[in-house]
Amino acid sequence: MPRRFRVGVVGFGVAGATTAYLLARDGHTVTLIERAPVVEPIGAGVLLQCSGQEVLGHLGLLDHVLKRAAPIDELHARHAGGRTLVRNRYGDYAPGCRAYGVHRGVLFNALRGQVETQSVDVRLGREVVSREITPGGEVVLLDSAGTRHGPFDLVVCGDGARSHLRAVFGFKASVLKYDHGTLWVTVPGAGVPGKLLQVVRGTRQLFGLLPLGDGLVSVYWGLRNDTVDAVKARGLDALKQEILAFSPEAAEPLEHLCHFDQLLHTAYQHVHVRRRHDGRVIFIGDSAHAMSPHLGQGINLAMVDAWRLAACLRAADTPAGAFRAFEAAQRAYVRYYASVTWFLSPFFQSDWRILAWGRDLVLPLLPHVPVVRRQMLLTVTGLKGGFLKGRMAI
Ligand SMILES: Cc1cc2nc3c(=O)[nH]c(=O)nc-3n(C[C@H](O)[C@H](O)[C@H](O)COP(=O)(O)OP(=O)(O)OC[C@H]3O[C@@H](n4cnc5c(N)ncnc54)[C@H](O)[C@@H]3O)c2cc1C
Repeated sequence: MPRRFRVGVVGFGVAGATTAYLLARDGHTVTLIERAPVVEPIGAGVLLQCSGQEVLGHLGLLDHVLKRAAPIDELHARHAGGRTLVRNRYGDYAPGCRAYGVHRGVLFNALRGQVETQSVDVRLGREVVSREITPGGEVVLLDSAGTRHGPFDLVVCGDGARSHLRAVFGFKASVLKYDHGTLWVTVPGAGVPGKLLQVVRGTRQLFGLLPLGDGLVSVYWGLRNDTVDAVKARGLDALKQEILAFSPEAAEPLEHLCHFDQLLHTAYQHVHVRRRHDGRVIFIGDSAHAMSPHLGQGINLAMVDAWRLAACLRAADTPAGAFRAFEAAQRAYVRYYASVTWFLSPFFQSDWRILAWGRDLVLPLLPHVPVVRRQMLLTVTGLKGGFLKGRMAI
């Protein structure tokens, strides 16, 4: 009979919500602590990869989410001049295989609904700022108002890419803040049905169009973070003209872009935590392995983390034993996606123009090598288990 633990989960994002639901369903006593006073279905469009779909299937949520998602059969990157850089068709990996574009809010609402079916003690408007360890080895969390939460047998931190708790709890992390990020907006429109279209010029300009379902489309415009004010000063019309010259497919969604304030700026980070747990506390999701969105894996990695952690807790006698098993199960998989994303990102967004030449020369050739093509396709599905591994089971 699996042991039941008292669990504190910090952060009501995708990682925290999935974890809280799964652990409560398994009979653990779960307290979910979130600093925002209200949790809202906000966010950009995300790519729900095959890995994320498998976890949602296990949660019984897949059909519900897919009703409000747009099928993505192909990732198509091309130059502003029209020449194709790379086309990855999911169906070439396996018949029926595809990703889905979905608004993060749709996914989050579905997960929140599942949390509400369980007796999870949700505490909103509480920012965790420190912890104490009791003489018995339990963890007590303290929030910024001085309120104590716990004691807990284990704590799962899903407090996002900009986690303060990593440092507060003594976990060493290397954080790479990219100079480049994106302006994005979600507006009515169809985009290019069935396709995530990315248009590039060199490594400094990148445009993306992701259909989402519900008649929405996410529009991305990559840029240097320190140019956002200058772009704003030039005005919305100038930006729209620039985007249209770059990608005529943007015409329909841009009709719904009327104010600069509709555009949100997001800067990317790459986070690597050397040790994800100390036997009592574990970091999952973006707090453990945030990465740029170029491979579109973040949401999916967060859900796989939650799924595997719950499985390890079912099989272990102690939190420390479960954490060790979890780390062993996730290491090769997370390392692979983190390394590939870290390696590829500057080829798509950076100040190193020379990388664009290499990319334009090599990337179109890679799919002509069958074994490479297969690995590329497996990678984008989110199911590659590691550098020397094939398709993983979730
Ligand atoms: C522009 C952009 C596009 C993206 N596109 C994709 C994509 O196509 N596919 C994909 O899979 N991923 C994508 N991602 C990444 C994806 O959004 C993240 O990987 C995912 O949201 C991580 O979830 P999380 O639960 O780990 O963290 P978050 O969603 O950041 O949640 C963290 C939560 O913790 C709370 N919190 C933080 N600190 C505390 C504290 N001290 N106390 C209490 N609560 C706290 C926060 O308020 C928040 O609610 C994209 C990201 C960006 C920026």
